[in-house]
Amino acid sequence: SNAIYAVFGASGFGREVMPLVRQQLQSNGVPLSDIYFVDDSPQSDILNGHVVLSYTQFLLLTAVEKYVVVAIADASIRTLITERCSSDGLGMLSVEAANVFKMDNVLIGKGSILCPFVTLTSNIRIGKGFQANIYSYVAHDCVIGDYVTFAPAVKCNGNIVIADNAYIGTGAIIKQGQPGKPLVIGKGAVVGMGAVVTKNVADGAVVVGNPAKPLRRVGLGGK
Ligand code: UDP
Repeated sequence: SNAIYAVFGASGFGREVMPLVRQQLQSNGVPLSDIYFVDDSPQSDILNGHVVLSYTQFLLLTAVEKYVVVAIADASIRTLITERCSSDGLGMLSVEAANVFKMDNVLIGKGSILCPFVTLTSNIRIGKGFQANIYSYVAHDCVIGDYVTFAPAVKCNGNIVIADNAYIGTGAIIKQGQPGKPLVIGKGAVVGMGAVVTKNVADGAVVVGNPAKPLRRVGLGGK
């Protein structure tokens, strides 16, 4: 056949992403049988109506073009799998629910997943492999790096910079920055669910609470 497609990750998030892929591709006439789940540890042969393959099995299928979207929330796993797929010549699919709202001047990299009810307002730049789970928003003038993950209902207000591989937990609220003086969430930082972030977050920090504060590091003499 011409082109085949896969959702990489046949777990919780993968099962939430598959219906979006199906809707997006079926409106372009792609048959259901050309849309697979791929997983390094397949737990079943069929999942929600789609064939589940190991990565090796997917590579062995005959098709002119192959596309994947990596539906795994963990940024480091997502990065590794994306690099593996790219080096094997697979194309990266971006997925967007039908009711996603994007306003003016939104640039977003390959392999992104925008779940239902996500809103991206105006003048926003986002890197590759972004995941915005249900009901999240990104407001004006935000700059978001590669492989950033938003759990459901993240409120990312205007003039915020989020560095690569950061993870923002469910319902977190991030205070707006100023033009020329953004609020910055560092590389690989983790914002806990429900946190209210009012200040910059350092690279690799884990912050929780309202106002969000770094988690005390146990046994390291941390403050
Ligand atoms: N997985 C994989 N290769 C890896 C790491 C994970 O195929 O190198 C798969 C794993 O088998 C599981 C899925 O990715 O099916 C991750 O699922 P999990 O429930 O941990 O995360 P979520 O679906 O919430 O992102």
